[in-house]
Amino acid sequence: MSLLLVASTNAGIGMQDGMAVLRSGGAAVDAVIAVIRRVEANPEDHSVGYGGLPNLIGEIELDASIMDGRTLATGAVAALQGHQDAIDLARIVMNELPHVLIAGSGAARLAGDSGFPRRNLLTSEAKAIWQSRIETSDNDAYGGKIRELARKLSRDPERPLDAHGTVNVIARDRAGDIASGVSTSGWAWKYPGRVGDSPIIGAGNYADNRWGAAACTGRGEIAQRCCTAHSVVTFMRFGYSLHDALRLAACDLHGLDDAYRGEVNIIGVDRTGQHAAASTVAGKTYIVMTGAMQEVAEHEREFVPAPV
Ligand code: ASP
Repeated sequence: MSLLLVASTNAGIGMQDGMAVLRSGGAAVDAVIAVIRRVEANPEDHSVGYGGLPNLIGEIELDASIMDGRTLATGAVAALQGHQDAIDLARIVMNELPHVLIAGSGAARLAGDSGFPRRNLLTSEAKAIWQSRIETSDNDAYGGKIRELARKLSRDPERPLDAHGTVNVIARDRAGDIASGVSTSGWAWKYPGRVGDSPIIGAGNYADNRWGAAACTGRGEIAQRCCTAHSVVTFMRFGYSLHDALRLAACDLHGLDDAYRGEVNIIGVDRTGQHAAASTVAGKTYIVMTGAMQEVAEHEREFVPAPV
């Protein structure tokens, strides 16, 4: 079977690591984690792991999930503080606990119990970005700040606050098995404890060998409301092509009433190993690497406009 990695553009830093896993005969799950681990350690990426942007009170809270398309086994962590290794911890939830999702202080406890080092995830650069926006908001209670943020976002939909970003990766290994993973520091300035789509299986991430896989970035609240990743896979199950499944899922998102009007971007792979990606906004890209390629290739996502 041909080896494949499909990912959000910011995964570029880890793609060679993931392909090395696949080329050595490793499993898709391990390749996904190898890619994401590098992104989580990258201080220049302010949307994932170390160097991510914090919530409203200046704390970084990470969300991540991994799904194995062979078995539908999955693990996830949400609102993890003080540890950068969110995707590795998600795998521990999948492999070692009788649970799917561990959140908050329980996730931090599990990280400590599992031997992951504590780390202050807030870099000075991320703090400066966070502060510059907080200082321009009303010096009010958290609720007031969120309302202020909401007004900013809905008043200027063409140039929304650059508060989001996430890494997601789908891999297909030599055996033809697929896996998908997502990791994020979530929506910057989010209300403390807010959990996005990334660790919610079916919303931001889904993989099933029999039909394919999908993963989302962007406004998690609407991907949660539509169960977007699962929808894409289910549409393929019902006979839609990957392209049509992505289009249908994007149209579902457009159909929601959402004052914040954030974009959603979806990557997908079907059971034959074809890849594609879509976005509810124009001009977005994703990256791909096959076993035959030495470098990553960047592709345009199909723009799915709101139906008129
Ligand atoms: N989907 C992520 C979340 O809602 C953020 C993003 O991808 O931009 O937390």
